[in-house]
Amino acid sequence: MPRQCEICNNARAILRRPKTGQRICNECFFYVFETEIHNTIVDNKLFKPGDRVGIGASGGKDSTVLAYVMKTLNNRYNYGLDLYLLSVDEGISGYRDDSLETVKRNKEQYGLPLLIVSYEQLYGWSMDSIVEAVGRKNNCTFCGVFRRQALDRGALMLDLDHIVTGHNADDVAETILMNLFRGDLPRLGRCTEIVTAGDGYIGRSKPFKYAYEKEIVMYAYLKHLDYFSTECTYSPNAYRGYAREFLKDLEFVRPSAILDIIHSGEAMQVASDVQLPTLAHCERCGYISSNALCKACILLEGLERGVPKLGIAKSARHAQELLANESAMKSAGKAVEPVHFELLRGKAQAMREQRQMKEQQQECHDCTATSCAFACDDDATGLCSSSKETRRCACADSNAETNAAAS
Ligand code: SF4
Ligand code: ZN
Repeated sequence: MPRQCEICNNARAILRRPKTGQRICNECFFYVFETEIHNTIVDNKLFKPGDRVGIGASGGKDSTVLAYVMKTLNNRYNYGLDLYLLSVDEGISGYRDDSLETVKRNKEQYGLPLLIVSYEQLYGWSMDSIVEAVGRKNNCTFCGVFRRQALDRGALMLDLDHIVTGHNADDVAETILMNLFRGDLPRLGRCTEIVTAGDGYIGRSKPFKYAYEKEIVMYAYLKHLDYFSTECTYSPNAYRGYAREFLKDLEFVRPSAILDIIHSGEAMQVASDVQLPTLAHCERCGYISSNALCKACILLEGLERGVPKLGIAKSARHAQELLANESAMKSAGKAVEPVHFELLRGKAQAMREQRQMKEQQQECHDCTATSCAFACDDDATGLCSSSKETRRCACADSNAETNAAAS
């Protein structure tokens, strides 16, 4: 006899939830999956009404489900968010070019604006050319550092308040294990946080922090979402691969292992006498950094100088060395200078002010022009300046009087 759904007791159970082992129906699965994400958002106060939120979109399953769920929850619970898709084109032929086609379709399917920023455009180097220069051993170090900064650059171009990424519970648990195995205490302390600072100005969060990868795949499949599932061509990342295998084995014998690791990580505290890096700004590009030069600038310099290993080891020592040679490198015309973050922040601020000004303006009652936002406090007439002249509204009269008095 077919089993009934353990939640609604009404429909036939068609799946077993990987996270809890419950046998449930499609509709109940959608409901519990979405509600858990909503609870994560609300419990952690990830957003406030009016926030402009960018969804880091790669075209893969995690970010596609994230875009779909964010849009669904924003409508269902009236979050009042302005949602955007923000993609990074690393320049990996046969992989990212194809997955970005998926993001472009998602843009139409979900009706969300899309911005794509590329490594080539931001740094002058695509991942294809980086791999040509560095080989396939440390390529993910370059890619990870550049992507983090590229997302912040894109966020400033869109003047976002916040970025959400599709990192799921499996990713978080893997990162905890990796940091634990490496004894990287500062990272271990940070990697369980649901909101991280990003550029220091733009918040970054993981609404899927407690969502199992298997459930995300299941959700995408059952909802027939359009996503791209090929692995990156340059995907060795051996260390994470080992942590992933280990986690999958643990999950097999004990499905709650993923959440247990996350909760253990959250409960761990970095001892007060552990020295954590002090954050300042990169002297070259203005990005948040604990050294004189940020990691991206050091890696770029290494690429430009033809010594790509320069930034792979200890950053502080290399930063000092690079700074000492700064003027010589510039005169040799070798230094790569991506747009300075101060400039991007200034532009974002100007866009914000313009938007706020527009919000204060209204449409003229007579025509479709914008009515004066400054004329007077009681611009109840709601008329644009030309209509005011013909209708002689109180606002225009008072302006005329003011002008006459002034002259
Ligand atoms: Fe970049 Fe490495 Fe991920 Fe490929 S696998 S997208 S090279 S970080
Ligand atoms: Zn920098």
